[in-house]
Amino acid sequence: MARHHHIRSEQILREALDANGQRFTGQRAAVFRYLLATDSHPTADEVFVAVRSEVPVISLATVYKSLETLVGCGLAIKLTYGDGSARYDGRTDPHHHARCLACSRIFDVAGRLPADEIRELNPGSEGFQVTGYRLEFTGFCEECHEASLGTDPATECATGPATDPTGEPGAAAHSA
Ligand SMILES: [Zn+2]
Ligand SMILES: [Zn+2]
Repeated sequence: MARHHHIRSEQILREALDANGQRFTGQRAAVFRYLLATDSHPTADEVFVAVRSEVPVISLATVYKSLETLVGCGLAIKLTYGDGSARYDGRTDPHHHARCLACSRIFDVAGRLPADEIRELNPGSEGFQVTGYRLEFTGFCEECHEASLGTDPATECATGPATDPTGEPGAAAHSA
């Protein structure tokens, strides 16, 4: 199953590169495979770290160029932010994103808005030719939200041993 998927993704890549006059390389294939396998919307650095374990000779510059090539071929989406950072998404079907303001993680949001609601926004009013749209929700992911509500780590430390369900004394007592 995984093998079949692997071959199919390579064929998709070959065809798209071919159609755009680009060469197929093992390094580009490794970058593409990684993007398809993750939903973490990684930065170029994160892709570099992940792919390097599979292709040790790959450079950050090659990863960056491969990512841009994939975007140019329509096989990936580049998400750019006001601070100049960029993230890459191997999922190219219409979907939106929710971005955590605390940890910068990006989560996929499936679904589309009803066409008449988009029309109501009238984005083409200034002669702008609309080819698509993307929504970005901003807020706090579950982990960061919980952390912001959570107990002060110092307090947790102090009360931890007292509420130990095993009723055992601390590890320090054992080793003494
Ligand atoms: Zn978060
Ligand atoms: Zn996405």
